[in-house]
Amino acid sequence: FKDNEYIEQLIKQLQESGTNVVVGSLDELINWGRSNSLWPLTFATSCCGIEFMSVGAARYDMARFGFEVARASPRQADFIMVAGTIVHKMAPVLKRLYDQMAEPKYVIAVGGCAVSGGPFKNSYHVLKGVGEILPVDVYIPGCPPRPEALLYGMMQLQRKVKAERYFGDVNRQEKKPKELDK
Ligand code: SF4
Repeated sequence: FKDNEYIEQLIKQLQESGTNVVVGSLDELINWGRSNSLWPLTFATSCCGIEFMSVGAARYDMARFGFEVARASPRQADFIMVAGTIVHKMAPVLKRLYDQMAEPKYVIAVGGCAVSGGPFKNSYHVLKGVGEILPVDVYIPGCPPRPEALLYGMMQLQRKVKAERYFGDVNRQEKKPKELDK
């Protein structure tokens, strides 16, 4: 609503008539729902993937925060958890999976390898972080990061989603990942 005076008057009239009124923005309502049902697409290539499995199991239980429905299909996922070393041969596959996800979509880089190439960053065959080909929203450092760190990173993504303006948001324009050379 742009006309605050009109809204204030309307609320006053409703209150005077004894009606209970709750005022909020549609953005907040939609983002509340979206941020509490973010479904991850699993993409684990090595050791950090084990930590992601741990987060999904009973001890850490990401279901407590609405992440429980890990998807194997990019069409059904809201964000991709890139956990592990990405070699150049794997990069086009990762990029294709990202492209197949529906907007709005997000990326979390899990562990040193996904963040910057990790211990293999000087190797000729390893991507120096998935940020080279995907627009990363949250970076989770560590080799590997502990499950608590994964949960913290996922909750940072929730915060980001909650702060978005769903309708007419300049920040929600489609993110353009870098094109691969081949
Ligand atoms: Fe393995 Fe460390 Fe790379 Fe994670 S960051 S995939 S633990 S080498």
